[in-house]
Amino acid sequence: MSSSMRFAVFNPATGEQIGSALDGGADEARAAIGAAYAAFPAWAASGAYERAAKLYRAYELMLSKRDELARLMTAEQGKPLKMAHAEVKYAADFLLWFAEEAKRVYGETIPSARVDQRFLVRREPVGVVCAITPWNYPVSMITRKVAPALAAGCTIVLKPAETTPLCALAVFNILEEAGVPRGVANLVTAANPAPVGEVFCTDPRVRKISFTGSTEVGRKLYQWAAAQFKRVSLELGGHAPFIVFDDADPVHAAKGAAAVKFLNTGQACISPNRIFVQRSIAGPFLETLQKRVMAQRVGNGMDETSTVGPLFSQRALDKVDLQVQDAIARGAKLLAGGKRLVDGDLARGFFYAPTLLSEVTADMRIYREETFGPVAPVIVFDTEQEVLAMANDTGYGLASYVYTQNLSRAMRMFEGLQFGIVGINDINPTSAAAPFGGIKDSGLGREGARQGLEEYLETKLGGFSI
Ligand code: NAD
Repeated sequence: MSSSMRFAVFNPATGEQIGSALDGGADEARAAIGAAYAAFPAWAASGAYERAAKLYRAYELMLSKRDELARLMTAEQGKPLKMAHAEVKYAADFLLWFAEEAKRVYGETIPSARVDQRFLVRREPVGVVCAITPWNYPVSMITRKVAPALAAGCTIVLKPAETTPLCALAVFNILEEAGVPRGVANLVTAANPAPVGEVFCTDPRVRKISFTGSTEVGRKLYQWAAAQFKRVSLELGGHAPFIVFDDADPVHAAKGAAAVKFLNTGQACISPNRIFVQRSIAGPFLETLQKRVMAQRVGNGMDETSTVGPLFSQRALDKVDLQVQDAIARGAKLLAGGKRLVDGDLARGFFYAPTLLSEVTADMRIYREETFGPVAPVIVFDTEQEVLAMANDTGYGLASYVYTQNLSRAMRMFEGLQFGIVGINDINPTSAAAPFGGIKDSGLGREGARQGLEEYLETKLGGFSI
């Protein structure tokens, strides 16, 4: 990157500057694409075993630097250290998984109706990939794209979120140390994402765009990329329903809801955004959930006792508070939290009290909009049919959760929920080995699993007359 301008990076728990990154723009994006374009033929022609070995080395290096990376993540992004450690492991898992999958890019032979003809199908890397990643999972969202791209034989240019460039730099240093050749994996950090995004989507040398972030930005990138028919993968927002039927244990379900709701301070695209509980068990469910919400310890993620860190920005804080106040004004009952925390050191960061709302109704913003914060809104329902309709009544379609002990009902919900991911009595249906992604406004394509590699491969047919 040639730009000598830098932008500052801050700790969201303290407001302190913790570093800076190069401020790249359209020129740096074009130069990086040029490097990736030049490096593509040799990387694509290198053997799958060689690419796998480099990814495996990166996996080992990432694990060996786990503590260092986790500390950087907590300082830059805010999540509690324990969760940052878990994320580094999750991020490394993608390097391992795709190191293994690199060796399984199988082709096909197809019988022809003509005896003198043979069909051969070969999978080839799509070419130069440009990727854009968000701040909420600042290491794993990178490996989830870079690992399959490199495994497939693609070269890549990545722009991380402007608020978490230091984690991205650390990941790219690992790739370099693992022996990934120059030009194969390129990083462009930028304070202003739009000019870089525009170059990514309009430069004809780029054959694929992979984006994780908001639905609004994803839509814009998709439109830009359409002019050149680039391949596009989009992991966008979510509005996950969390459904608890009265045949489930309400205490167990409430513990699950609290555990997944406050992960990463609610700043996860698969965070439950609407918690539906069947009327006859609403009492014990809410009682346990309230206890769990009130037991959360809010603070700087570096403090080992913190379970909930800061929100990411003033804008995020304002959005969360607006949804909470709107719900209260429209009749929701506040059972915990409901305000910004400003006691002592908390005043320096963007801390919001873990919040529980009951009697939430469809006319409230929180029922319709993604929250991306530590707020659990609870809605009581009566029948399976009613809750399925309410759960599906959203433009989003990423994650959903169901608690039930009834096998037939579990299957009906699995089939009926219009979401890319359904957790049945399971609050963590994610893994490098499993296809992650959404439908409708939650995006296109899948990351992780066998399907995650497909996104970076083209199909070529050979017809041979003999
Ligand atoms: P965002 O869309 O503002 O930012 C995400 C990335 O896009 C950042 O790198 C940002 O710099 C870049 N960006 C922003 N404007 C751009 C533009 N005009 N051109 C090019 N790039 C641009 O999203 P956010 O608010 O930072 O992140 C939260 C959102 O991401 C939530 O909606 C969340 O659900 C979603 N998300 C989805 C997943 C998933 O896997 N589906 C994972 C994490 C986050």
